[in-house]
Amino acid sequence: MPFETILHLAYSALAGLLIGSFLNVCIYRVPRDLSVVSPRSFCPECGKPVAWYDNIPLLSYARLKGRCRHCGKPIGIRYPLVEITTAFFFVGTILHFGWNLNGFKWCLFQAIMIVLFWIDLEERLLPDEFTLGGSALGLLFAFFTKVPGDLGELLLPTVSARGQSLFEALAGAFILTLPLAAIGLIWGKLTKRDVLGLGDVKLLPCMGLFLGVEVGIQTLLLGSLLGVAIGGIYIFIMKKKAREYELPLGSFYCGAAALAPLFMKF
Ligand SMILES: [Zn+2]
Repeated sequence: MPFETILHLAYSALAGLLIGSFLNVCIYRVPRDLSVVSPRSFCPECGKPVAWYDNIPLLSYARLKGRCRHCGKPIGIRYPLVEITTAFFFVGTILHFGWNLNGFKWCLFQAIMIVLFWIDLEERLLPDEFTLGGSALGLLFAFFTKVPGDLGELLLPTVSARGQSLFEALAGAFILTLPLAAIGLIWGKLTKRDVLGLGDVKLLPCMGLFLGVEVGIQTLLLGSLLGVAIGGIYIFIMKKKAREYELPLGSFYCGAAALAPLFMKF
């Protein structure tokens, strides 16, 4: 492996740790409507500010043995977990796509999916800042990088590559969103239960705009399968009531979506 590539992978790992640390702030604060810039990091248990030397990704958690310096209450395992998974995703993506705009786009997409995965898991919420904000970014990137899939090329052979990419993104958004939104609406009317939350419906255009039709559908299928399998096992082991348990379906979609770029042909 060329030295330059090793250097790029090291940068990606470092960026992943630092951005993962910021994603943790978003995961805690955005669903609580708190600002993500100020105040500085604080312990959610005792409210004391976290000094910079206690806020170094992974290292501080290890040195403090996962406890707050002031009150000694445990710091969630989610903090180091998000930092390390973000770093792994970034390294994998740069290794796969290279140190270029495409690699940058997929790292950004994965960061959004990681945040949404955890917020949905912890709060059963998918905030607009990330679903709608992510959709806007997906549309923007469709101008500058090729959206995966060849539907645009197939249906619009005379249109420019940029036009085909945009078509692919918009088709992905519609095809992913409309059927599920319709099923959710009808099913909800029949059972009088909110099976597919509005947040889930807003997540789908974001996934479609980035992933396009083909990868988008594969990702949705994988996410649904994982959701049913893991959710089913969880309900069985924890002896939850299946009728009352609210599955974080968005988390499964986001997990599958974050993995998708690593297996993508381009
Ligand atoms: Zn504390």
